[in-house]
Amino acid sequence: MKNKKNSEIIISMRDVCKSFPLEMGGVQQVLFDITFEIHAGEFVAIMGPSGSGKSTCMNIIGALDTATSGTYELYGTDITNFSADELARVRNEHIGFVFQNFNLLSKRSVLDNVMLPLMYRGMHMDERVRRAREMLKRVGLERFESYLPTQLSGGMRQRVAIARALAGDPKMILADEPTGALDSKMGNEILKFFKQLNQDLGITIVMITHEFDIAKYAGRLIHIRDGRINYDGPVPRDERVLQ
Ligand code: ADP
Ligand code: MG
Repeated sequence: MKNKKNSEIIISMRDVCKSFPLEMGGVQQVLFDITFEIHAGEFVAIMGPSGSGKSTCMNIIGALDTATSGTYELYGTDITNFSADELARVRNEHIGFVFQNFNLLSKRSVLDNVMLPLMYRGMHMDERVRRAREMLKRVGLERFESYLPTQLSGGMRQRVAIARALAGDPKMILADEPTGALDSKMGNEILKFFKQLNQDLGITIVMITHEFDIAKYAGRLIHIRDGRINYDGPVPRDERVLQ
């Protein structure tokens, strides 16, 4: 990152803890005092083994769930105690989601899928179409707008999902194991594409992964183990640093 100090803070987590109630009574604490900031223009990988708390952390970052204690500010607003409706608005306004299994509507065209998040914006139909086409062009799929997602390869489907994520002009892209359902060739293409979006357009990307080889595409790595931050810094050359 060139100007990390001067760029705006997109995410600020302070002492975030998360516990889930257990059926038999009591609670299970999953996150412990998570503190970090992410600035505009960063490409951050959040990495950790299965069960370390990545999804729980991502749900809080993505305003899909709230912390049990601590504070979470998204783009300068403390959303720690937001209601479900307020969180939904924040998600739609600020975050573009990319999921492992694409989460596309299988019976709607590629263009419809990309236009979907714009529906809640009160944008005119022709403006939504224009914007969605522009995003499809950005991911190199402008010729496939009338296809159904099922007619495309996995890598192409994920590019549709990225176009959809970008359509709302979000403050960041939040990707959860975005290459988890792809073979390594298509996976690498998606990762290179993320890197390009980040470098050329300055789009902030937060990517959740359990694999070091995927995390390497990012500029910064936050490593979580047993619900605590174990490492936060530039991606190390050797995974053994994370032990
Ligand atoms: P990861 O994504 O790194 O695999 P998760 O965040 O999904 O890890 O889960 C971390 C821990 O939190 C696991 O032990 C899991 O069982 C527990 N956990 C996650 N969600 C819930 C929930 N809704 N209720 C109870 N326990 C949960
Ligand atoms: Mg997970």
